Amino acid sequence: MGDLGKGYKLVFLGDQGVGKTSIITCFMYGKFDTSYQATIGIDFLSKTTRYEDRTFRLQLWDTAGQERFKSLVPSYIRDSSVAVIVYDVASKQSFINTSKWIEEVRAERGSYVIIVLVGNKTDLVNKRQVSIEEGENKAREFGALFMETSAKAGFNIKPLFCKITSALQGNE
Ligand code: GDP
Ligand code: MG
Repeated sequence: MGDLGKGYKLVFLGDQGVGKTSIITCFMYGKFDTSYQATIGIDFLSKTTRYEDRTFRLQLWDTAGQERFKSLVPSYIRDSSVAVIVYDVASKQSFINTSKWIEEVRAERGSYVIIVLVGNKTDLVNKRQVSIEEGENKAREFGALFMETSAKAGFNIKPLFCKITSALQGNE
């Protein structure tokens, strides 16, 4: 029998337009798709990944950040192992809004869940509104992991998922 590995649900949260779908697409297919696709409702994709000598089946749940989907969020978060909460480093407001996503996840999942705060779009160097220190401080404050990424440049996407599988491994 092949090693199917253990399955984990990862939910992606954050304001619309911060790059959630792009991060997932980049990780799944290794490319940045410029044709904008707003997520309709909730979808998930599965990917098997290896970390050290273990196999992990990651179920990546994409979502839309719009408030109108808010009623879906508790059921969506319920059985998640990891919440990836994304902001755009060129949008202060999207960074401020991560607090409410984090609080919602903690309220629903307590300390069972691994939270990863992700500052995406680091390629927008001249438009940056949130420093790496601000991101790190917030992550520390909420007991979350932290990573900056650029789905466009393919920067830190693989390391992000390595960090996640490493944390899943350490959580057992
Ligand atoms: P979502 O609503 O959070 O799923 O965001 P999308 O993945 O749909 O991305 C929103 C917009 O930001 C799209 O136009 C993407 O092409 C763009 N985008 C996503 N990631 C990056 C990035 O790392 N850098 C830049 N410059 N643009 C990005
Ligand atoms: Mg999307």
